[in-house]
Amino acid sequence: MGTVFPSPLLVGFDMADNSCKLCLVRDIAEKADIYEMVKRTRGMLSKSEAASDELYEERLGVCTQCDSLLAGTCQKCGCYVEIRAAGKSARCPVSKW
Ligand code: SF4
Repeated sequence: MGTVFPSPLLVGFDMADNSCKLCLVRDIAEKADIYEMVKRTRGMLSKSEAASDELYEERLGVCTQCDSLLAGTCQKCGCYVEIRAAGKSARCPVSKW
C-alpha cells in the first residue's frame, strides 16, 4: 500500500471552510462518488493483504481524531485514509497506527 492516492476532493476545496475536517470519504459520499472507488480498491486486496475489519475500523477511528485528516485525505501523505488503512502492512506516516 505504498501508492499515494491524492484526493480530487481537495481540488478547489475552500481551506477556510473546514466543514470536512475529520471526515472520512464515507461521511461525505453524497458530495462525490469517491467512496465507491474506496470500496472497490479495498475489495481488490487479497485476504492475506487486507487488514481485518476490526483493525481497519480501529485505524479509521484514530484518523478521525487526527488534525491531519481533511476531506477523507491525510495531509501528511496525500492518501485517502480509507484506502491507506486497508492494507494489513500499511502504516500511518507519523506512526499513529
Ligand atoms: S494516516 Fe496518520 S497522520 Fe494521516 S490522518 Fe490518519 S492518523 Fe493522521
